[in-house]
Amino acid sequence: MLAKHGGTPVRTKPWIPPFISTEEFDGTEKEALLNVLNKKRVFRFYGQGLGESEAARLEQLYRERTGTRYALAVNSGTSALVSALVGAGIGPGDEVIVPGYTYIATAAAVLIARAVPVIVEIDDTLTMDPKAFEAAITPYTKAVIPVHMRGTPCQLEEILEIAKRRGLLVIEDVAQANGGAYRGRALGGWGDAGCFSFQQYKVVTSGEGGMVVTNNPRIHARASVYHDCAISFWGVAPADRVDSFPGENYRMSELQAALGLAQSGRLDAVVGRLREVKRTIVGGIRSLEGITLQRVPDSDGDVSYSLVFYLPDSRRAAAFADCLRAEGIPNGTIHNNGFADRHIYVNWDYVLEKRGATPHDTPWSCASYKGNVQYSRDMCPRTLDLLGRAVSLSLHQSMTGEDCRDAIDAIRKVAKHLA
Ligand SMILES: *Cc1c(COP(=O)(O)O)cnc(C)c1O
Repeated sequence: MLAKHGGTPVRTKPWIPPFISTEEFDGTEKEALLNVLNKKRVFRFYGQGLGESEAARLEQLYRERTGTRYALAVNSGTSALVSALVGAGIGPGDEVIVPGYTYIATAAAVLIARAVPVIVEIDDTLTMDPKAFEAAITPYTKAVIPVHMRGTPCQLEEILEIAKRRGLLVIEDVAQANGGAYRGRALGGWGDAGCFSFQQYKVVTSGEGGMVVTNNPRIHARASVYHDCAISFWGVAPADRVDSFPGENYRMSELQAALGLAQSGRLDAVVGRLREVKRTIVGGIRSLEGITLQRVPDSDGDVSYSLVFYLPDSRRAAAFADCLRAEGIPNGTIHNNGFADRHIYVNWDYVLEKRGATPHDTPWSCASYKGNVQYSRDMCPRTLDLLGRAVSLSLHQSMTGEDCRDAIDAIRKVAKHLA
């Protein structure tokens, strides 16, 4: 009998820790941070030994990991996206296409760059539908931001082909997929720029932080100018000669960089363990009647901390999620899960209502913008249907064979009773 109906739950032991990144903290992180304190240097652009800085080392690591020529460390994933957009020359009058399922920061970054986000459907990969992307292109479209949601590589081949044919820039949002790959090559190095986040919820953390990688010297130079309003005064050699213009302060501190380095050194091992865990569980539920696994464009490249399957409708998904929770396996549907999930476009109030920090000259109402983007809560019905039918479990690198078996047994038990 199902635990929900008074039967014995499959699992009574506590489930996995909430974070992947901070769960790994040990002497390595402590030593890296203490080393920075001992050096008495927390500012990366301090004149002596610019190239010796922790931030410069972190940039070097991400150049190597992604096979790109340039990297810029910044203080968040959001500022990485803004820097990449401004770096790519995107601004007032431009439209940038984003998926309806991504953290709100993807759309916010477009607005902070003074451009207009255009929201499109996802498909059963839970990432941007390439056909919806192509259908949304207008004469004002300059770029697309495909997002590798929950560690799942998006359909890069299709998106890159469309972007190339239509003359658009591709900025990958890799915030949730650090360590992921597509056809054997790291995510982030495929588009014109790739943007990482090192916030605590991500695969590795620097306690807030981000990174822009690119092969384009102009994007790198302009992003560098935007990330520091005084960049030309620090004696930093730009990758390309560009005119200066006003920027922010998005610099990464040496403390963040040192933590990011210690954490990133574990990335491949952590992702390797996650992949084993996910393969084991998928192997145990693949053939189940009544549930359909999320389509993953390149399962070998999947970061693999998320397991998603679909039920035929949202009512059955909610019932499945409920019963599975009662069996001792925390999980949830994605849409209508009892809170306003900031990863779903229907909850992006200031975007849907076209609200800026001031009432006049917002990206939508400024004189440069000639388009006419419209938003509504029902504009992406397929996205809402998929997210409402999706049952989602988080996985963790600490999961043992027994943990995997519990997950499999519980999913099989609920499927047998409900399917
Ligand atoms: C977390 C996240 C961001 C923003 O990163 P921050 O470091 O929190 O600013 C952007 N896009 C996606 C998809 C994210 O998950």
